[in-house]
Amino acid sequence: MQPLRFLQYCGSCNRALGPEADIYIYKGESAFCSIECRETRMRTDNARRNHPS
Ligand SMILES: [Zn+2]
Repeated sequence: MQPLRFLQYCGSCNRALGPEADIYIYKGESAFCSIECRETRMRTDNARRNHPS
């Protein structure tokens, strides 16, 4: 099996996500070390959608 490399680092703070760590998935493609980090990413996505550049 291929390792899921995108799951190895938090998508918000870049903290390494060990196999024992709690991982929070967003949209099935991004992994975060905490709910707070995931919500930070969700807010960023929402702001981008509301204010396209
Ligand atoms: Zn994080």
